[in-house]
Amino acid sequence: MNAAEKFDANARAALRLLGPDPDNWVPDRPGIDHNVVIVGGGQTGAAFAFALRRAGVGKVTVIDAAADEASAGVWLNRARMNKLRTPKTLVGPELGVSALSFQAWFEARFGAAEYDAIDRIERTRWAEYLAWYRHFLEIPVRYGVRLARIEPAGSFFRLRLVDASGQEHVETARKVILSNGVAGNGAPFIPAVLSEHLPASAYAHTSSAIDFAALRGKAVAVIGGAASAFDAAGTALEAGARDVHLFVRRSALPAIPVTRARAYPGAYDNYPHLPDAFRWRQALRFRRAGSTAPVDAVKRVTEHPNFHLHLGASWDHAGVEGGRIAARVGEETFQFDFAIAGTGYYVDPVVRPELSALSRDILLWRDRYVPGEGERDDYLGAHPYLGAGHEYLEKTPGAAPYLANLHVYNPAGFVSFGLPVGDVPSMKRDIPAVVSRISRDLFIADLEQHEQRMTGDVPPDFSPELYSASVWKGERADVA
Ligand SMILES: Cc1cc2nc3c(=O)[nH]c(=O)nc-3n(C[C@H](O)[C@H](O)[C@H](O)COP(=O)(O)OP(=O)(O)OC[C@H]3O[C@@H](n4cnc5c(N)ncnc54)[C@H](O)[C@@H]3O)c2cc1C
Repeated sequence: MNAAEKFDANARAALRLLGPDPDNWVPDRPGIDHNVVIVGGGQTGAAFAFALRRAGVGKVTVIDAAADEASAGVWLNRARMNKLRTPKTLVGPELGVSALSFQAWFEARFGAAEYDAIDRIERTRWAEYLAWYRHFLEIPVRYGVRLARIEPAGSFFRLRLVDASGQEHVETARKVILSNGVAGNGAPFIPAVLSEHLPASAYAHTSSAIDFAALRGKAVAVIGGAASAFDAAGTALEAGARDVHLFVRRSALPAIPVTRARAYPGAYDNYPHLPDAFRWRQALRFRRAGSTAPVDAVKRVTEHPNFHLHLGASWDHAGVEGGRIAARVGEETFQFDFAIAGTGYYVDPVVRPELSALSRDILLWRDRYVPGEGERDDYLGAHPYLGAGHEYLEKTPGAAPYLANLHVYNPAGFVSFGLPVGDVPSMKRDIPAVVSRISRDLFIADLEQHEQRMTGDVPPDFSPELYSASVWKGERADVA
């Protein structure tokens, strides 16, 4: 048995000791195809499938618009960093079953000393581990199936799904989990100076597939000061770009990871229960400090002499001159062959086609919370105000009760939960919270059937013959 096979045997033994997966306890309902549809087969979708299985919630399906396993999720596609940004020690999709953890998987293959030696997890190793996790746990993902639209139909949803050939069909579900990635409640943010003044062929957002090989020998501009911008700049430099100029609006790179101050169990575990004003101020503090790029992502570009960092530099205007981009930045004009927007994402459920039938009913932070003097922030205000089970809440009470069955597991949960939901740090706390809510809701919704089941006839384990000979029949009977 080689190391990988031995590891699988250990993991199998750990699962055996947890006891068998419970049977599905959710009563079938006529016309309902799925109790839960998980939208997105990345790390989150797979972890939910495992957690729901362990909770005895059956009839769960995972769909992913991507054509196949390799093109699903970010890790082998739009993520261009060498290492994960998050610490290696976080609990991930193993959800407390340590034999399924990254550390266990890694050490079985490369040894404990090697694990100690790495500072953070290599991106491609993480992808390899996630593929192992999905296969080992036999989590079926239906690739090439895109959720096009969710339509409420009373106590369930009608989901319009489009397959790889473009065919649309409808499936029904009682619960939906949106584990659909970083843009899952909005879209990539592209500055107007690019989108309104340049042809689409002249620029790309970091969320797109970018042909970096085609940038060899070219002058490239990157806009943005957070990690994705640095990763794109690094990839372009390594692909042989002639020079890369990175433009940041702030006068210095964000270097203070303010959220680290609340990375302790009390703050982490209890954050969802904090008062609105508290959570708002925390979110605002992060916004103002800015998202920091890891040190190695900055070093990756600064070691190239043909990398140039522009601080306090916004593009005032862009146009095409002689087939190249002409960008005016303050008093200077630059010429580029290609521009990359590493400018993040915005949150606005209204722009998601999947949500078009219900987005206007969703309660947002700006509907719920009025910030104090000097604390207004339109970006944060556009985030959905989520309930404790990550469910959407109604803007107008009673107007859209079905929103309680739509669970959001993407970074739109940032203001409500204090971290980019979907990232590894969210898994330990939030996946069990959502699963527990789904279990509770499904149970309560079928309470009558459960009452019948729980008060139903139970056959006796034994008859009185088992003990009749020992029953006390009085002193005289004993003497006789
Ligand atoms: C560049 C980059 C770097 C990152 N680095 C880190 C990091 O270091 N650490 C960290 O914890 N997080 C990081 N993140 C966040 C990262 O997105 C998450 O950790 C992780 O990918 C979340 O997994 P997920 O399964 O929730 O979403 P994803 O991996 O994004 O998967 C979502 C899936 O949903 C599918 N989907 C979307 N819409 C539909 C639809 N309508 N129908 C069907 N399927 C759909 C997509 O095809 C996709 O496969 C990074 C993100 C990016 C973009």
